[in-house]
Amino acid sequence: MNQITELKSLLLATPRPQVIITTHHKPDADALGSSLGLYHFLKSLDIPAQVITPTDYGDFLKWMPGESTVINFEAFEEKSAKLVDEADIIFCLDFNTLKRINRLGELVAKSSSKKVLIDHHLEPEGFEDFRLWTTSASSTCELVFWLIELMHEVDHVSADLASCLYAGIMTDTASFKHGSTTPTTHRVAAKLLEKGAKPNRIFESIYDNYSENRTRFIGFCLSEKLQILPDFKTALIVVNAEELGRYKIITGDTEGLVNYGLSITGIELSVLIIDRTVSRKMSFRSKTKFPANSFARQHFNGGGHFNAAGGESSDPIEMVEEKFKAALPEFLEYLN
Ligand code: 5GP
Ligand code: MN
Repeated sequence: MNQITELKSLLLATPRPQVIITTHHKPDADALGSSLGLYHFLKSLDIPAQVITPTDYGDFLKWMPGESTVINFEAFEEKSAKLVDEADIIFCLDFNTLKRINRLGELVAKSSSKKVLIDHHLEPEGFEDFRLWTTSASSTCELVFWLIELMHEVDHVSADLASCLYAGIMTDTASFKHGSTTPTTHRVAAKLLEKGAKPNRIFESIYDNYSENRTRFIGFCLSEKLQILPDFKTALIVVNAEELGRYKIITGDTEGLVNYGLSITGIELSVLIIDRTVSRKMSFRSKTKFPANSFARQHFNGGGHFNAAGGESSDPIEMVEEKFKAALPEFLEYLN
């Protein structure tokens, strides 16, 4: 609570501080929603804030109010570097290690600004001055609402702000169905609805807004690419660069694909390996005992939550697939 009071007085100082808000690379709805939610909140307090994302993000997020003000670091490197250098306060949302914001992380680490971490991933590395962190929050969007409540500023929640936060809570809980959904999550969601978030519109904007190519690509992956490894109760989809090109897959299109494997009876682990231009990106989803984050950390330079994690590799995709299959026996006890 002392930290919140101190942070509030830093934010409300005269003249107002220059604030940067950033989030993890390839932001999802929780990452971008929490960033823009915080942006709207700070704006309502007359605090100039700029959201900078380390990379681009999917078109399915571009409806979010305030999205047009976001700067993509990769596209505007010099301008972003200058803003980070001049910042008094940098908010780091929905990630626990500076590695997750790529080269932007080096600039944030060097900056003399105060850093504020708002996150719900295990084991934050500890680069921040202020921390609002717990793995018991459904999402970073829920935590941003907690911050606003702790600051006694719920009156400042507009319909735009509420819509951004609702989007991240909805997606990070997979529409209020993950175990991370608590009574508090529902209370926060209820308050966001009272403030004007429209659940049907937000759901449609995110889930009923895909290209025809993407829908055909999902069909192709499920009928042609799905492997079942019965001994390990594992579903695996590996997509190579030619296949991504054939279906004109762009950022955001592979979101959600990994969940299909998990929907099969008896499957405990679902894995997606995608051949991105710079590296091979992996997604892990598990049902109960399989520690997806430890597995990702030990074998694929990654991390995340217990049942939802990610990782990456610079090896060719065939080698990543082999390495994955070779690593599974070590974790067999968690798959039975
Ligand atoms: P996704 O599979 O949707 O990309 O990520 C699932 C979860 O794992 C997210 O909570 C995300 O923050 C985390 N995650 C994904 N990729 C990485 C990674 O490369 N490193 C770490 N530490 N976490 C990741
Ligand atoms: Mn999140």
